[in-house]
Amino acid sequence: MKISHIEHIGIAVQNLAEAIPFYEDVLGLKCYAIEEVKDQKVKTAFFKVGQTKIELLESTDPEGPIGKFITNRGEGVHHLAFAVENLEECLQETEAKGIRLIDRQPRKGAEGLHIAFLHPKSTLGVLTEFCEDKNK
Ligand code: ZN
Repeated sequence: MKISHIEHIGIAVQNLAEAIPFYEDVLGLKCYAIEEVKDQKVKTAFFKVGQTKIELLESTDPEGPIGKFITNRGEGVHHLAFAVENLEECLQETEAKGIRLIDRQPRKGAEGLHIAFLHPKSTLGVLTEFCEDKNK
């Protein structure tokens, strides 16, 4: 397993248009991309903090994962994403160590990253994502 840095922190918000001003006007960050990820039923807004990004997630469907998260737990930190090398190998290694995977195969996330989630029941309650940038 080779983790280089925290790729992003995913934060569930009710509404991007209402959330972005906090990050821009109060924290002084700049939203550099807004992207819809149909697969995950979300619209995302990205900010950079050094090498790490903040990914705001607005649900486009109340039955989607972020819609359900907000209904059950309200707005807040949703997941933590690590940048890894060789995602397939990381998933195999993680599963071999007894961790439950949500995604046994990588899928496409925002910004063209290859991503996979580990199950929060296996990761002390923190929804954990691995990301690999194959364009590098
Ligand atoms: Zn993510």
